[in-house]
Amino acid sequence: MFETLSDRLSGIFDKLTRRGALSEEDVSEAMREVRRALIEADVALDVVKSFTDRVKAKAVGQDVVKSVTPGQMVVKIVNDELVRMLGSEAQGIDLAATPPVVMMMVGLQGSGKTTTTSKLAHRLTTRDKQKVMMASLDTRRPAAQEQLRVLGEQANVATLPIVEGQSPTEITERAVKAARLGGFDVLILDTAGRTHIDEELMAETAAIEKIAQPHETLLVADALTGQDAVNLAKNFGERVDLTGIVLTRVDGDGRGGAALSMRAVSGKPIKLMGVGEKLDALEDFHPDRIAGRILGMGDVVGLVEKAMETVEADKAQKMAERMKKGAFDLNDLSEQLGQMQKLGGMGGVLSMLPGIGKVKKQLDAANLDDSVLKRQQAIISSMTKGERKNPKLLNASRKKRVAAGSGTSVQDINKLVKMHRQMADMMKAMGKKRGALAGLFGG
Ligand code: GDP
Repeated sequence: MFETLSDRLSGIFDKLTRRGALSEEDVSEAMREVRRALIEADVALDVVKSFTDRVKAKAVGQDVVKSVTPGQMVVKIVNDELVRMLGSEAQGIDLAATPPVVMMMVGLQGSGKTTTTSKLAHRLTTRDKQKVMMASLDTRRPAAQEQLRVLGEQANVATLPIVEGQSPTEITERAVKAARLGGFDVLILDTAGRTHIDEELMAETAAIEKIAQPHETLLVADALTGQDAVNLAKNFGERVDLTGIVLTRVDGDGRGGAALSMRAVSGKPIKLMGVGEKLDALEDFHPDRIAGRILGMGDVVGLVEKAMETVEADKAQKMAERMKKGAFDLNDLSEQLGQMQKLGGMGGVLSMLPGIGKVKKQLDAANLDDSVLKRQQAIISSMTKGERKNPKLLNASRKKRVAAGSGTSVQDINKLVKMHRQMADMMKAMGKKRGALAGLFGG
């Protein structure tokens, strides 16, 4: 799976990363090719559109980072958007509920439901040390319950004893009771499939859900069916409370579009993927790893990440230089406040700076939490360029204007100006001591 798409994309980005400079037209051309590649891989159209729109918007607004080519930057943006499209964080099966934790598998006939049920039971038993019971609710296919029993024997997992003539809801009631009485941690219900979605199937699934109150309801979908799988997720999602998707046959040579659109279209996380017929051919779905596999540009992504960290350090170094010279103006203060917000508030930053205890005390006294940081940035952004460079210009009437512009009071402006003065004085004093500040700010 993904090979064709992967080949196409690496072709596009190889070209792009080898060029020194990029024009807007180069980026647009590359995006057109990406768009074509995604559509050919059977990714849903609106997913493709929002993907390329986001990449373009980010690529235009992106600062070019030293030691990285624009093409490499674009690769990093595409990578990040791919990860996002696939769901960002990996989400595993949730076992946090009172046992027996009920899991319900739904999907069409032949999608791999029964196989996945026993794979999951096998994994929960061996890896997570859970006591698992499986029950087949498929009363339509004569051999279905027997198939699960045999699989259970192979996997060394208990199955609910077969009682002829019971309806799916009756079997559900019996299974829940048996799991409770037997002290099972997990009960996995393998529901009946159909060849296509019909009202009867949906009604039956909903009725079982009502009785079983599953903690996880997983849609098993065949990745090879492409867009059909995506529609399936939408349809089931309207009737039952899906908690996740299992994509099967990811080992096949499909185009991968289902995997790529599923999350975006259904809003449900892909939790697992089946990668073969064997009992252990079940893997967690990691959006970042899958994106890496599709893009095949791990080195470039790593390089850009490294360079971006360096840029932050460079900025800090430059500011330290300015502080040493006593040229710390309100623009610098604003930048600092922004940094502090990013780094988890004032407390977080200051605890990293040795010898700044005195300022910290003052700031603590000023009760400087994040909302205060934001307000102070608002004040500074309401000032003119001249005022930011030289706060002494701020007379009474200017202060009034700034207060009105930032929705604060003249008193707030006075506090900020005073804090800035104290910080600047202190930095100058420390700067004279053998460039101590350069050390403090990562230089
Ligand atoms: P169900 O009707 O939904 O219960 O489907 P089954 O579990 O009986 O699976 C149908 C067929 O698909 C079986 O031959 C399985 O071995 C096969 N199958 C299931 N999952 C996978 C998978 O991830 N990869 C491959 N290659 N085959 C699978």
